[in-house]
Amino acid sequence: AKDAGGNRYEVADPDSDARAIDRHSLTNHLPAALERDEFFLEYQPLIRMSDGKVDGAEALVRWKHPVHGRLGPDRFIPLAEHTGLIVPLGRWVLEQAVRQTCTWASGGPLRVNVNLSPRQLHHPDLVPDTIAVLEAVGVEPSSLCLEVTESALIGADEDELKPLWQLAELGVDIALDDFGTGYSNLANLRKLPATTLKLDRSFTQGLQRHPADPVDVTFVEGIVSLAHALGLAVTVEGVETEHQADQLRDLGCDTAQGWYYARPASAAEFARDWAPNG
Ligand code: C2E
Ligand code: CA
Ligand code: CA
Ligand code: CA
Repeated sequence: AKDAGGNRYEVADPDSDARAIDRHSLTNHLPAALERDEFFLEYQPLIRMSDGKVDGAEALVRWKHPVHGRLGPDRFIPLAEHTGLIVPLGRWVLEQAVRQTCTWASGGPLRVNVNLSPRQLHHPDLVPDTIAVLEAVGVEPSSLCLEVTESALIGADEDELKPLWQLAELGVDIALDDFGTGYSNLANLRKLPATTLKLDRSFTQGLQRHPADPVDVTFVEGIVSLAHALGLAVTVEGVETEHQADQLRDLGCDTAQGWYYARPASAAEFARDWAPNG
């Protein structure tokens, strides 16, 4: 049977085959892609819940692949993290994000949020590179927020956290991304240089329902009061409906991000729609 249908058996799982080949070739093409400027950033607004105004933007990287077209970060960031290319790619993202957003105004310059991967966090050049970018572009450290996943920090020892503390002392904001998805040790929060908690989308999903899932409401309520008691701001991700937005505002969340407000957009679109320069 295998003889006759050999081909069929070989491609029994065409998806995972295609993905495996893809992964390999994508990984090999990452360095050239960086040199050829195939990466670009999109921006999604962060909305201040008290007045509905734009408070900043998160920079999200994409790859304009010559063959496969537009690829999202989930396709290539893990590969770049694995090979180490994330270090030069992350440096490019940081500089590009700070340069593109520093000219935008909306009653004042906008803050920009940039994602850091674990490998960047542990790279000795993180602090000097970040300072160099801020000085080269000429923006205040407080215009930058670095987003670090909670899981990258949990279990980190004092030495590993030193670079983030140094950046925080300069005035750079530090956000704990995807908060609530890891094994959070809430007591540890006090030992981290974070200024903001970004509550993961999975916790705001239950608030889309009518009525909202009471467990999710209680959870968000608890996190918000704990965060505020510790002097941290709360940003909520994945806000897709007005119902969700209303509840999250009533629960005291400070900032929100999600499709209800806007999908990520090109730098030009963002500047036009969210940061008109007078
Ligand atoms: P993240 O940091 O948690 O970013 C939020 C993700 O949620 C983004 O996906 C965004 O497009 C998506 N999103 C925003 N609003 C909504 C919503 O209302 N509903 C839903 N369902 N999704 C929403 P994206 O752009 O595909 O990025 C995925 C992840 O890739 C990011 O998750 C982040 O971990 C990583 N990433 C993106 N850019 C960079 C980067 O420059 N460097 C590093 N190291 N990682 C990056
Ligand atoms: Ca993020
Ligand atoms: Ca997140
Ligand atoms: Ca995420």
